[in-house]
Amino acid sequence: MVQALTKQSALNLFEQITAFSVNDATPGITRLAYSKEDELAHQLMIEKMKEMGLQVRQDMMGNIFARLPGKNPELPAIGTGSHIDSVPQGGAYDGVIGVIAGLYAISQFKPQQLKRSLELVIFRAEESSRFGFACMASKVMAGQADFDKWAKNTDSEGNNIFQVLDNCGYQSQKLDECRLPTHYFDGFIETHIEQGKVLEHQHKRIGVVNGIAAPCRYRVEVHGHADHSGATPMCQRHDALVASAAIITDINAAAGYESAYGTVGTVGRLDVSPNAINVIPGDVTFYVDIRGVDKASVNRVVAKFQASVEHAKAAQDVVINVSELANDMPVLMKDDIVHRLERICQEKGVPFTTMMSGAGHDTMYMAQDFPAGMLFIPSRDGVSHHPDEYSEFDDVILAAEILQQAMGELADA
Ligand SMILES: [Zn+2]
Repeated sequence: MVQALTKQSALNLFEQITAFSVNDATPGITRLAYSKEDELAHQLMIEKMKEMGLQVRQDMMGNIFARLPGKNPELPAIGTGSHIDSVPQGGAYDGVIGVIAGLYAISQFKPQQLKRSLELVIFRAEESSRFGFACMASKVMAGQADFDKWAKNTDSEGNNIFQVLDNCGYQSQKLDECRLPTHYFDGFIETHIEQGKVLEHQHKRIGVVNGIAAPCRYRVEVHGHADHSGATPMCQRHDALVASAAIITDINAAAGYESAYGTVGTVGRLDVSPNAINVIPGDVTFYVDIRGVDKASVNRVVAKFQASVEHAKAAQDVVINVSELANDMPVLMKDDIVHRLERICQEKGVPFTTMMSGAGHDTMYMAQDFPAGMLFIPSRDGVSHHPDEYSEFDDVILAAEILQQAMGELADA
């Protein structure tokens, strides 16, 4: 027997996890990866899921797998899951509701009821706050972790991930064993908060994710000439900031033109030198982040950005160096899973929209090896990674019910 979560017991469990947070005066939830609070929260989940009757195991990295065996346990399983670590002073919902929804979905079935097994994964260290790397567990599971890089980055106490793993009683020497076999899952669906305002604006309760955007990032160094703002006539200037402003405006317009594809372009950081009211800006460095799920659309924005750089060089007579920091491929969700989730929403009369995920998730790495999908629920005011992060618990349960049906169908397919 497996004890099914009810809406009330799911809410109780959510509140129990929320209680594991650094106990100081700071607002919000602070449960950094592998901290004392994070360990205790994972321990609670192990106990709870064993108590419910699921088969629970933990790998060498501390990832938790809770399985409901199917009639044919040798077949690849159908997976779901998310993370329960948080950023400093984050919210209670990011990650956690994906674990709760997954557990709710799985627990509605009986052992051997479905052909395939169902499995919930709780991924460790999804947030990059502690070690500087995101989705560490799912990268390890997908064989995409760069251990040499990981060894060089330490947390605020000077320990790298391997030292922290060993201190927590896991086995950093055996991380290779955490790699999931090729046919481990036949499908994987993660539920997550949207972390944006698309659903709220469109009055939808569910987002069916069709792809996870990957960023193209550039550092742009503009070198002009710093001169007196009063004594230098307009025709004699080499203003690095005016050149930068033109490029930034062009990126904004180019991304706006591609909005039907969901492509977005942002300059979120700008360093101006000498940054004084009476000096023409001599040097500017800014950072460009262009992302979307349609690579051709992303590439069109990148091309317009590059053309804008050439134009600004000539117009302001400045030198501009562009370095590419990242150029990743978007991760597409599996059509079969996307369409299945859309159909289930239609059948249930749930207002939904199909959308891309602008943020990264563990499912990006699960999708490298397995057919994958994601469900979003609305985030109030689009806020996340902040104490004000909030989602309706009714939406968590609604997503869990959609997930339950999808997992049940996939498990019997
Ligand atoms: Zn998350």
